Amino acid sequence: MKTAIYPGSFDPVTYGHLEIISRASKLFDKVIVLVSVNPLKPCSFTIDERKQFLRESVVAEGVGNVEVDSNEGLLIDYFNEHNADVIVKGLRAISDFEYEFQMAQANRKLCYKAETIFLTSKSEYTYLSSSMVKQIAMFGGDISDFVPECILDRINERLKRY
Ligand code: ADP
Repeated sequence: MKTAIYPGSFDPVTYGHLEIISRASKLFDKVIVLVSVNPLKPCSFTIDERKQFLRESVVAEGVGNVEVDSNEGLLIDYFNEHNADVIVKGLRAISDFEYEFQMAQANRKLCYKAETIFLTSKSEYTYLSSSMVKQIAMFGGDISDFVPECILDRINERLKRY
């Protein structure tokens, strides 16, 4: 039984995240999508909202063997407490690599058995990020190609400025 943890802010979840979740779910017996609190990164949605968006989106996309949870502490503590095997991260571009490489090294330093596996983004989602989706929504742009329909109205409602 292999368990993978896919951590991130998911503020909000996008099709880029969902594609990684779907692929990870085929590689591992269980995938825990972990909404992680980063005190250095301000978010637009609460942890509960982000978890709810993820749960509904995963169901809408028909992905099985996925659990959604949140963590306010160190990823590696959660990893050990849940007997996880692997940390999954998505890589969009070289710009992601530098940060993710450091994180993977730090996590392995904190726990030698914490392997990080990188899944490269599908080419049509390489430019897609939560912050880009939020900027478009704030100015009333159409984000329907970027997030599932089931969460679209709540995102637009929260972010619309004009
Ligand atoms: P962001 O706010 O940049 O979208 P998150 O912290 O929510 O980022 O991302 C969590 C993980 O998902 C990271 O490993 C990130 O590289 C990955 N990810 C985010 N967007 C995409 C995408 N479009 N394609 C592949 N991986 C992605």
